[in-house]
Amino acid sequence: MTNRTEDWHSKPMHGQYMRHTKELASDDLRQWLLRGELKKETEGIITAAQDQTLRTRYIQRMIDGNNISSICINCNTKNQTINHIASKCPALAENQYKKRHDSVAKALHWSLCKKHQLSCSDKRYEHQPEGVIKNDQAKILWDYGIGTDRVLREIRPDVTLIDKIKKRVSLIDGAVPWHPKVEEKEREKIHKYKDLKIETTRIWDIPVEIIPIIIGTLGTILRSLKRKQEKLEAGVAPGLMQKIVGHIGSIFHKKFSLDDTSTKFGTNDVQDLLFKKSTISS
Ligand SMILES: [Zn+2]
Repeated sequence: MTNRTEDWHSKPMHGQYMRHTKELASDDLRQWLLRGELKKETEGIITAAQDQTLRTRYIQRMIDGNNISSICINCNTKNQTINHIASKCPALAENQYKKRHDSVAKALHWSLCKKHQLSCSDKRYEHQPEGVIKNDQAKILWDYGIGTDRVLREIRPDVTLIDKIKKRVSLIDGAVPWHPKVEEKEREKIHKYKDLKIETTRIWDIPVEIIPIIIGTLGTILRSLKRKQEKLEAGVAPGLMQKIVGHIGSIFHKKFSLDDTSTKFGTNDVQDLLFKKSTISS
């Protein structure tokens, strides 16, 4: 696997994303490709997006010299770049991007319910979190404002876990930013809930920790994510989290009229980038 990864790093275009993110990403970076659970067309488009070879309208106009508008066909305001498609289009913010964010948070909520033996659906993707759910082991709040003595601006993390056995609280908040921003976003989350942590520590008189759950729009996962989930003794496997986020690949298809011909990727190129299970196990 190491040799294959090094090969990919060394490819001038194809390795661009890996080189850019290799210090940030965990060894699980490419789990979603390893697991082979994404549709081939979605894999191809995400891989092309990672390598900046996706033929967006901006690239088609500025690089290919095609006589088309570079403006996004959804919002009609900004250039249709890869970053714009993946995280910046205002036409997708309220619906698609929010759904993507919530899907990651819901998956984590579901795993916490399982861990603490709270009632939840058998299937993760059918899980609809309740505002408050509790038993003798734990209490879990979903998108729920926490009452404090001081007036604070930020009182509503995605998930608040009160672990009654371990006697500790976790303020968990997720985000799916453009990949060069993942570390910055993690710091933002720590800062955002700093005052809430101080207040809740004082009021409840037990340790409170802020746990950002950050995954890049194109699948980047910080090395620290695994440690955070281990601390929770629950969580979402990196490959599954990437699969959830990978839903953006299907958005590329539907919303931006991108298809395989937009990637300038030959079948062999795509196949070469996919780490097959047989390669891993050998
Ligand atoms: Zn747009």
